[in-house]
Amino acid sequence: MSFAGVDLAASDRNETGVAIINEGRVKVFSVFSFDEIIDAVKSADTVAVDAPLSLPRGRCCLRNDCSCSRHGHFRRADLEIRRYGSVLPLTWRGMRELTMRGIRIREALASHGVDVIETHPRTAERMMKNAELQMELDSHASAMSIHQRDALTAALVALLYSEGNFTELGDPSEGTIILPKVEEPQSKNSSRNQP
Ligand SMILES: [Zn+2]
Repeated sequence: MSFAGVDLAASDRNETGVAIINEGRVKVFSVFSFDEIIDAVKSADTVAVDAPLSLPRGRCCLRNDCSCSRHGHFRRADLEIRRYGSVLPLTWRGMRELTMRGIRIREALASHGVDVIETHPRTAERMMKNAELQMELDSHASAMSIHQRDALTAALVALLYSEGNFTELGDPSEGTIILPKVEEPQSKNSSRNQP
């Protein structure tokens, strides 16, 4: 089984971080173009992408001047993730570009038979802070760009997802955000914070 994470940039002018976990071996690198992204991860079983991969229900686009704008700026997943921290509305200029590129990436990867999930690495990383997988992340951290680090966190979420260790936010028919399922902090602290 192989797992990949993609920290997607809104355009091909900016760095997209990619991480691949294959048979326990980790590879991180950066790419730019749409085709480079697809080629990099299309052979993975599961790919987790740090970008919105769907539109709010009822919307055909994210333009403010379209009649579909009455359906709002957020998916249910975007509202539910607020309890872990703030998120930007999909209609904010940068998010609009990112979301449309994310949807194209999802569709292209799905046509290659890849299981594609959406995640939020900054939130996931906070949640995994006490988990053992964080050790693997830290041992690679110094040589990585911030985009590569987020991609690696996303790849870890893809791995956890395949193991069933995940929390799914939002409505599956609208598009969900996958986060790690981690142990409650108090049980971790009782074993870790021994003097
Ligand atoms: Zn529209």
